[in-house]
Formats: sequence, C-alpha cells, structure tokens
Amino acid sequence: MSGKAFFIDTTVCTACRGCQIACKQWNQLPATKTENWGSYQNPKDLSFFTWKVVRFQEHLGPENKPVWYFFPDQCRHCLEPPCKEAAEDDAPGGIIVDSETGAVLYTDKLKKANAKDVIEACPFNIPRVQKGTGYMSKCTMCYDRVHNGLEPACVKTCPTGAMNFGDRDKMAALAKKRLGEVKAKFPNAKVTGLEDLRVFYLLADEPSKYYQFAGVEKAPDVMDRKMALKKIGKSLSDLSREWQLLKKLAG
Ligand code: SF4
Ligand code: SF4
Ligand code: SF4
Repeated sequence: MSGKAFFIDTTVCTACRGCQIACKQWNQLPATKTENWGSYQNPKDLSFFTWKVVRFQEHLGPENKPVWYFFPDQCRHCLEPPCKEAAEDDAPGGIIVDSETGAVLYTDKLKKANAKDVIEACPFNIPRVQKGTGYMSKCTMCYDRVHNGLEPACVKTCPTGAMNFGDRDKMAALAKKRLGEVKAKFPNAKVTGLEDLRVFYLLADEPSKYYQFAGVEKAPDVMDRKMALKKIGKSLSDLSREWQLLKKLAG
C-alpha cells in the first residue's frame, strides 16, 4: 500500500495554529466567528468551513504541574474509508479516492447521500454538512498542491516540524524512528494509524488525554453491522419494487 501520508509529531507541536490558518488561506475558507468558551482552542470544533483545528487539553502532570496536550485534528484519509462505504448506495461517486495519493475526496454528488449516515460512519468525527445546501466537506489532503509537487499548506507552514508529509512508507518509518527517540522522555508514547490510515500521530501520552477520538484507529464493528443492515434493507426494498413491477406486468 503506497500513496501519501501525514506524520504529525505532537511532541514538537506548540499549538501556534499556523496549520489551521494555512488551511483556511489555501482553500479560501471564510473565517469562523469564535467566542470565549473557556479554552485557548478556537474555534471550538471543525465545521463546513474549518477543515483543520488544533485541539487543546490541559492535565496535571508531575508535581501537580499543568501539562498541555495539543492535537492538530483533520481527516485521516482512511485506507478503506467507512464514510465512502456509507455514501455509496445513495450517492455513487459522492466520495472518491485519488489513485495517486490515496486522498479521500468529497464531490458535489455527495449531496444526494444521507449526511447523517456519512457523519456517523466516520470513527473520527470529521465530515461536516452545510445547513441548507446539504453539501459536505473536510480536508482534501491539498491534493491540488500535491499533484503539482507541493506539500499540503498545513505542512508547508508548520514551523516546528510537527507536520510532515510524503510517501506513506517513508512517513511510517519516520514515525517509528521518532517514537524510538522520544520513548525515554515519554514512556507512554505511541504512534496511531500505522495499519489503516494515512495520518499517523505520535502522542506522548494516553490518547484519551488529547481528544475523545485521538486513539481510535478504525471503524468499530458496530458500524459494520449498521451498514450491513442498511444494505439488507435496501436490497429488500429493491426486491419489493421489482415484485410490484412484475405483478403489474402480469396483471
Ligand atoms: S503549525 Fe505545527 S506547531 Fe503550529 S499548531 Fe500546527 S502542527 Fe502545531
Ligand atoms: S477520517 Fe472519516 S471522513 Fe476521513 S476518510 Fe476516514 S471515515 Fe472518511
Ligand atoms: S492537507 Fe490541506 S485541506 Fe487538509 S488540513 Fe492540511 S491544509 Fe487543510
């Protein structure tokens, strides 16, 4: 499995939010109205116009001193995207995978899908829908830049080396190398996503300390059952339609 991948090294992320702003600038996404909600993190969440958000968490560390946990959140560009599976029946071609990079891309055809199904299928809480139009959006891997030999905007702008991008096998090797380097300082450190995703995070501590979905590596089985039931339901309704048609022709 080749294609491209991100390696996000949270151990050197300073939460400057340059990546968050660069994403807005390159993709010409309008600013989001923010408010003081008791955290330095802003905006509070991803949205139709915010495809990358740096999440902030604070926990007590050694000697009860506060420790920051920063998590630059974005689409993981799953190798087998559950969002695509969920949309396929209602909106064929609504979600495509770029054969060169592996980027998972939403098209305008996705408007025909049930947005709730697509949102619920994603184990990382990524897809967002625009109220009123039904269009859906998320990170595109900056495939337009990548196809022209450029790095994604968020990677290009990162001043600390936390954001990395390149061939998937090289990013996996870099992630493992960095894990080895930081283990002495952070014994709980781990890398997520190496098996199933195109975004690998190096986390210095338990994933749950960063964000609710930071440690999820793939879609839970319950989602597979839900999708299977949906497909069975659709097959039964197709059969019923065909039966009605046959009855009509026979009569
Ligand atoms: S630009 Fe780099 S250092 Fe700044 S918030 Fe993003 S990942 Fe962290
Ligand atoms: S992270 Fe979510 S939105 Fe992105 S490809 Fe995977 S399932 Fe789809
Ligand atoms: S790859 Fe591009 S679209 Fe995705 S988060 Fe980075 S800047 Fe935004």
